[in-house]
Amino acid sequence: MGKVLSANLGYPRIGEKREWKKALEQFWTGNLSKDVFLNTVRKLRLSYLKKQKQIGVDLIPVGDFSLYDHVLDTAVLFGLIPKRFQTGEKEISLETYFSIARGNKNAEASEMTKWFNTNYHYIVPEISNDTLPYITHNRLLDLFIEAKEELGLITKPVILGPITLLKLSKGYDAAHFSTLLDELLPLYVRVLNELREAGAEWVQIDEPILVKEQTNEDLAAFSRAYQVIKDGVPGLKLLLQTYFEAVDDYQAAVRLPVDGIGLDFVYGKEANLSAIRTFGFPEDKVLAAGVIDGRNIWKTNLAATLDELQTLLSAVKYHEKLWVTPSSSLLHVPVTVSNESELDPLLLNALSFADEKLSEIVTLAKGLNESAAAVDGAIQKSISDLKALQQSAHRNNQEVEKELAQLSSELPARPSSYQLRQQIQADTFNLPPLPTTTIGSFPQTKEVRQARRHLRRGEWNEEKYEQFIKDETAKWIQIQEEIGIDVLVHGEFERNDMVEYFGEKLGGFAFTRFGWVQSYGSRCVKPPLIFGDVSWGAPMTVKMSAYAQSLTDKPVKGMLTGPVTIYNWSFVRNDISQADVFNQIALALKKEVHALEEADIRMIQVDEPALREGLPLKEAKKPVYLHDAVYAFRLATSFVNNDTQIHTHMCYSEFDEIIDTIDALDTDVISIEAARSHGEIISTFEDFKYKKGIGLGVYDIHSPRIPSTEEMKSYAERALKVLDPKVVWINPDCGLKTRRPEETIPALKHMVKAAHEVRNEL
Ligand code: GLN
Ligand code: ZN
Repeated sequence: MGKVLSANLGYPRIGEKREWKKALEQFWTGNLSKDVFLNTVRKLRLSYLKKQKQIGVDLIPVGDFSLYDHVLDTAVLFGLIPKRFQTGEKEISLETYFSIARGNKNAEASEMTKWFNTNYHYIVPEISNDTLPYITHNRLLDLFIEAKEELGLITKPVILGPITLLKLSKGYDAAHFSTLLDELLPLYVRVLNELREAGAEWVQIDEPILVKEQTNEDLAAFSRAYQVIKDGVPGLKLLLQTYFEAVDDYQAAVRLPVDGIGLDFVYGKEANLSAIRTFGFPEDKVLAAGVIDGRNIWKTNLAATLDELQTLLSAVKYHEKLWVTPSSSLLHVPVTVSNESELDPLLLNALSFADEKLSEIVTLAKGLNESAAAVDGAIQKSISDLKALQQSAHRNNQEVEKELAQLSSELPARPSSYQLRQQIQADTFNLPPLPTTTIGSFPQTKEVRQARRHLRRGEWNEEKYEQFIKDETAKWIQIQEEIGIDVLVHGEFERNDMVEYFGEKLGGFAFTRFGWVQSYGSRCVKPPLIFGDVSWGAPMTVKMSAYAQSLTDKPVKGMLTGPVTIYNWSFVRNDISQADVFNQIALALKKEVHALEEADIRMIQVDEPALREGLPLKEAKKPVYLHDAVYAFRLATSFVNNDTQIHTHMCYSEFDEIIDTIDALDTDVISIEAARSHGEIISTFEDFKYKKGIGLGVYDIHSPRIPSTEEMKSYAERALKVLDPKVVWINPDCGLKTRRPEETIPALKHMVKAAHEVRNEL
């Protein structure tokens, strides 16, 4: 009898203690020589392979490791180099590689965007109609040989597939897709043949685009592409891997001429399972069953998962036709729980990061190959660990659950329409036309970060720290007054991060020490864990907002992070629905909004920059998500008086899909990023005939550049061509925490001057 194999799809790059990140950044600043750098990352890479081998994984990937991003790696492999970075070199140097990702003195970096619905960002390949792909250097071959020679491992190389690669690239006309594909396919064939000759048995070709809606034309391209590849590399086995959702067209996917298909049985569970039930699974293929959550951090209930796998085993019939895998690359989860010494054991025992997930996979494969009894210890432990957290007092807060149960299904609503509120608020605030404001944060200087460090290390007491924060706030209130901004902010100096700050103060959250995941390049984030019912204990922002307001006659905006953004930037419990967690956070924020209103803070901004991020990949699932998001936002904000002005802020350059959602939030003012998208965004609001207050980003805060008054004026004038001046505000694209005061102050002066000049033209 053959064996069920355990397989990994991708391992985190960053290292247990972010060694990878540190090496990269030291290399970039010139503190590591190229040789030392390359040797450091090589050692890391090999240590990851060794670890996976020790855990007992049968099929270990190579090519998942990257010095920046795997999409960029694939683009570079095939010579898809943006024109401005082409140097004539055949092999792309490390310098060019990093320049594409990060920009250099002469050229702007390539665009970066979200990898499907994750918080990972990839470098968007730039292709033009006349791009001629070629193989620069078969890095996969190097990696395969390295693992074989150094560790005696026959690994499974991973490569991004041609269709997903082209679909994620930009710069060419759709009509050119076929030609580009034709040019790429022989190159894939060559790369794969070299791997086969070196001894590879399986390769994993990632085509996550298959979970998005596919037209007949798309599917035809898939058949054609995989026929060419299959015919081109006889003897090499191809695993076509999908993830993040169910495949759009199961029947078409399993018909493709490959040797195995990887399906997601976590995020695409229902649809993938029901397709297998309905149509069966082809006897000639391997099913790589993604049953372990590759994107969340909870331990798996091994009993339930083993049952599911038994069902899949009967569908594929033979043990050797089944692999147990994570639902996606483990890039999206932290490395290991083994360094988390400070977490409550109850919570710690219910967690599983990359290494622990691989152990779960190995256990499950063993359970299938031997018997459930052979892994009974692990099964029982998974059940009892999860149950202990499930039943614990700090997961279950009765008061919160009661409040949640009392929510009505009707959307919470403001007491009056926007039109009426607008009049009332115009009288209350008496602002000039085109009022100026900022998005919330001011520069987090070295001193601010140092103060936080002093507090953390116990070198400063609370009192000293608080005085420092107050002084900083007072300084910036004065700066804002001097610049002549109309609506002020306190500056968010007390916040390390816009989610962590609230997580630390709300019940139901926990924080790891090393739970980092890669966001883009060397940048990592450490999402909070929402493990229990979210509860509000005491005001979180009132003290600083009220203090700031006490220093000025101008209105000061209160500043909160919204429920959807807090959710999307955390690792969230999965034992209750998304809507329930949204609403728990919203109920807590509602109390905060109420406390602000009581303290006479009459403009309150609830930021939702990540609202769009959580949008499901499947069209059919979008409306529920958007409805739940609107409900939660309104639950937190809509009860306020007519003369309390609710603001929100969002910052990305695509609003098309969510414009009615934005309208449904029913905020009095929304501030958006517009400068970075060169004003293009306005048309979305124009087409929609958006009537409520709208603050335009006229200052791209992502760059140290100080834009001129003229430039900012031009953005404002462009917007006024289509928007009613009565609703337009002027502001930067986003918060200014990453900018230096020397950049911020002159830029804001230009912004205020621009607003004054445009006002005078009205
Ligand atoms: N209020 C936040 C800030 O200014 C908003 C940040 C964001 O949109 N990401 O920093
Ligand atoms: Zn923003």
